[in-house]
Amino acid sequence: MIGKLFLVGLGPGDPGMQTPQATAALSVATDLVGYGPYVDRVPPRPGLVRHVSDNREEISRARHALELAASGRRVTVVSSGDTGVFAMASAVFEAIEHGDTAWRGIDVEVIPGISAMFAVAARVGAPLGHDFCALSLSDNLKPWEVVTRRLRAVADAGFVIALYNPISRARPWQLGAAFALLRDILPPATPVVFATAVSRSDEAVTVVSLADADPARADMRTLVLIGSAATRRIERASAPPWLYTPRSVDAA
Ligand code: SAH
Repeated sequence: MIGKLFLVGLGPGDPGMQTPQATAALSVATDLVGYGPYVDRVPPRPGLVRHVSDNREEISRARHALELAASGRRVTVVSSGDTGVFAMASAVFEAIEHGDTAWRGIDVEVIPGISAMFAVAARVGAPLGHDFCALSLSDNLKPWEVVTRRLRAVADAGFVIALYNPISRARPWQLGAAFALLRDILPPATPVVFATAVSRSDEAVTVVSLADADPARADMRTLVLIGSAATRRIERASAPPWLYTPRSVDAA
């Protein structure tokens, strides 16, 4: 084995949601590679070289990290949440598959992290207690027809849906179109959670019904969680409702 490459997820924001394994990898790294805001979350230390790149440069960032590791450095590539969920781990393996065969000799270690969907679910109860799926609404890396086909299929099949990347400046209308499509399939009272910057100082979490879901509530730091027809809502007098999805389901 030559060099070392850790693929690390830093969790949703709160340092308490970064796993001890992630912290250990960061403490032995010689090089830190990632998108600027994620690299900024790692405190500087002597001997740690920082390599910051822009968003959407995943493959060149992955190749750079692999080159560093192949030269004998101990490299940590950071993502938010979990590195395997809409993040850098796939980009690194894609670069390995298509790159220099020597990269297959690099000691790659994937360190799991707390993905945004788990932090969001924990804030509102247990909405992921039964079958669910995670879907990125971004059509940067897949055609919009694929997004809508998948949304229809999973809503129809009764999955709870964790929607990542719901909106951005370049993708302003897609979330509204997704809600319109889902309103044809799911009951109007289906709970929808808008959870922004969860576990950070400006966290905002709101539970509404699908009928009232307004895409303007979401920004790039929002995860939109859409219940299934089975998801239950427990009203409380002085707090937002709890949501949970029962563990069992009757025969259709
Ligand atoms: N690897 C990350 C996901 C990266 S994609 C993970 O496992 O969580 C970026 C998307 O993740 C954002 O558009 C948003 O939908 C979601 N996200 C990341 N951090 C979040 C947070 N603290 N609160 C709410 N959503 C978050």
